[in-house]
Amino acid sequence: MRKRKLRFTHYVLSSMPSIQKLAVIGDPIAHSLSPVLQSFLIRHFALPFTYEALHVRAHDLPKMMQRLRNGEFRGLNVTIPHKQAVLPFLDVVDETAAHLGAANTIAVEKNKLIGYNTDVTGFLRGLTAAGISPSDKNVLVLGAGGAARAVIFALLKTGAQKIFLCNRSAGRAEALLAAFANDNRLKSVQWPDRLSWLQNNKINVVINATSMGMHPQLNQAPLPPAAFFPYMIAFDLIYNPLETAFLRDAAEAGAKTANGLGMLIEQGVAALEIWSQRKFDIRDIYANLENELRQALKAS
Ligand code: NDP
Repeated sequence: MRKRKLRFTHYVLSSMPSIQKLAVIGDPIAHSLSPVLQSFLIRHFALPFTYEALHVRAHDLPKMMQRLRNGEFRGLNVTIPHKQAVLPFLDVVDETAAHLGAANTIAVEKNKLIGYNTDVTGFLRGLTAAGISPSDKNVLVLGAGGAARAVIFALLKTGAQKIFLCNRSAGRAEALLAAFANDNRLKSVQWPDRLSWLQNNKINVVINATSMGMHPQLNQAPLPPAAFFPYMIAFDLIYNPLETAFLRDAAEAGAKTANGLGMLIEQGVAALEIWSQRKFDIRDIYANLENELRQALKAS
């Protein structure tokens, strides 16, 4: 009897896929929502992974990448300030990460470190989830940092008609235009002119890819209330808070709005698809997942 039980236990353990570790690295990292998001997905889809947040300072990055190469982890998410700094440690980067010069996801494949950037997929799926289609639209992108670069890359891919780029520092906006080889669908708008320009040009989609309005600067916004019209869709990449001053002003003017939570969820799902080599349909669990992330944001 005892023998049979032991054999059964052995069978169950050996037929279970071995558990692999995943983590998000950044500095700071305590407020990252990725552990909540990924743990929810891992639980729901019964995946053989654990996921943790690791506080990795710049001088510890080489050591961290060595741990990855040694096989301690299946993969990593990478957040501020390491998205660019990880590139020299990688053996291969996909086309998107190479173009953006930044990776937010790493997978270990046959001892090789492969870098990806799932922000582009996350942004596009986030737009779709919010019912926004940028194809054939005129879009204004505010900001010229890493997030704006991913947004522009995605918008060019998806067939936006014209993309206008507006950033406080003109030099950074020009550098971003140059990075897209001055594609003729891309134009720049001077930061001081943005209000009058929006009042004189019909822009369908306005995207905030600046960090203005992010917690704790709740009253900051990249546009004044008079910039919004009912025919507009306003999309804010920020998800903390869920309703920024930018989104509140847009909604009050009658515009359709969407926050950055959908993009956050979708970039995480895309990363999990890379590590697990599976596709996930999250439509049935979307509301629960969103609710869990909202609770985590309230508690943070
Ligand atoms: P960066 O630091 O690279 O860029 C910040 C941008 O904000 C720059 O264009 C900067 O302009 C602008 N900015 C900051 N403060 C001001 C200000 N006071 N007035 C005018 N412009 C200002 O950040 P990222 O590009 O990485 O991220 C931008 C935002 O997108 C963040 O809020 C981030 O949380 C969010 N994000 C959301 C994601 C999601 O999944 N939802 C994914 C990635 C990012 P300048 O060049 O003049 O300094």
